[in-house]
Amino acid sequence: MQIAVLGAGTMGHGIGQVSAMAGHEVVLYDIESEFVENGLEQIEANLEAGLEHGVEQETVEATLDRLSGTTDLEEACGGADLVIEAVPERMELKRDTFSDVEAIVDDDAIIATNTSSLSVTEIASVLDRPERALGIHFFNPVHIMPLVELVVAAQTDDETLATATAFIEEMDKESAVVRDFPGFASSRLGVTLGVEAMRMVEQGVASPEAIDTVMEIGYNHPVGPLKLTDVVGLDVRLDILEYLSEELGDRFRPPQILKQKVRAGETGKKSGEGFYVWEGGEAVGVSELWSDE
Ligand code: NAD
Repeated sequence: MQIAVLGAGTMGHGIGQVSAMAGHEVVLYDIESEFVENGLEQIEANLEAGLEHGVEQETVEATLDRLSGTTDLEEACGGADLVIEAVPERMELKRDTFSDVEAIVDDDAIIATNTSSLSVTEIASVLDRPERALGIHFFNPVHIMPLVELVVAAQTDDETLATATAFIEEMDKESAVVRDFPGFASSRLGVTLGVEAMRMVEQGVASPEAIDTVMEIGYNHPVGPLKLTDVVGLDVRLDILEYLSEELGDRFRPPQILKQKVRAGETGKKSGEGFYVWEGGEAVGVSELWSDE
């Protein structure tokens, strides 16, 4: 297929990578050429690192050959069979993006959103042909995480779901089909743990490291809830919580500590600091507020 991925950030570059690795022609789009270049560079770095984990040099070269980038939406989406948007988690932005895409693509192209929580039904309702829309929700980091949630909107037709299911199967990932409901299955449960961990930090129950250790060793979670929040992005988590608290009630109300950190630009791994301090992609210490120094 010819695939357009909109937004070259944390998720977009990963979606572009796995799609190209599965043999599709991929165009990565973002609003600034710098963001497109960063996304393509990140893919190259992931693939290079993959060489040490069994990825063949030929696969790296073929994947890079199938990838290109642009800041021109018409160039990205013209002729696309599948468009996946991974722009920031805001309803109006997602709806505007869907509407702009539909004006460019053919009638039978699928238009998908990688939203973590927003109503896919509401995003799709801007389309003239909303039956071609669904949620294809990848997990972070996309090239490593084997699960994809397929979110079926009220309007999604069987053919669209079947095409998306085959697309995920071909890239050797598992799909879980869920009905469109705020937070789906994954974010609703995952965010619940994260939000409670943040409240525990606010209440002085324990340090972020201790809380994460409890879940990593005590409950066998590969990553603790606060480190995971850093990896996901505190800004992304805040957007999700604001939406879920409106839709599902006060139990998802964003903790003050999260709002303060986002206001201070401490968005986690991508900015170099969240609940932890990050260097070269690794957590090297706890954020100042909790450090003993
Ligand atoms: P991000 O902030 O890392 O990247 C978003 C990108 O979109 C940026 O490069 C930005 O420049 C670009 N952008 C902004 N406006 C745009 C526009 N109008 N058109 C095209 N690009 C635009 O965010 P992210 O973490 O990649 O999240 C993207 C989506 O994926 C969100 O809906 C988020 O909820 C979802 N998601 C995130 C995660 C995660 O762990 N971060 C996991 C699953 C799903």
